[in-house]
Amino acid sequence: MTSPRSRPSQAPKTSGLAEVSYRLMREAAVREARGNPLMREDFREAHPMLLRAARSIGTPTNGMCPLCDEERLVWVKYAFGPRLPAEGRCLENAADEERLTRRVGVFTCRVVEVCCACTWNYLIHSYTVQGLGAKT
Ligand SMILES: [Zn+2]
Repeated sequence: MTSPRSRPSQAPKTSGLAEVSYRLMREAAVREARGNPLMREDFREAHPMLLRAARSIGTPTNGMCPLCDEERLVWVKYAFGPRLPAEGRCLENAADEERLTRRVGVFTCRVVEVCCACTWNYLIHSYTVQGLGAKT
């Protein structure tokens, strides 16, 4: 099983050039949301496409939702880069990520944790994947 505090186990090799964990910011956001019901709503405004992706292809984690504590969080991964949609392409599995490495360009992958019960969502990790074109 994966944990929201570690890298996705099925992630491909990353460039190492741009890898960011938002764990500390996430913990601050959780504290803020728990202490302020108005702030809580800000973190529960998930885009419908994000919720749909979370319900259909989200990667289950061991972590419980920090707000409602009713459901386990899932991760949804998106890739951004050349010739991908502006809103990003949802990565369903390791094969999707592997395909990025065969494309031309450098891609940014973002991992968002989502609670399908209360719609809490937060960007927890981003990393760069080098495609073929970036190696030359
Ligand atoms: Zn929740």
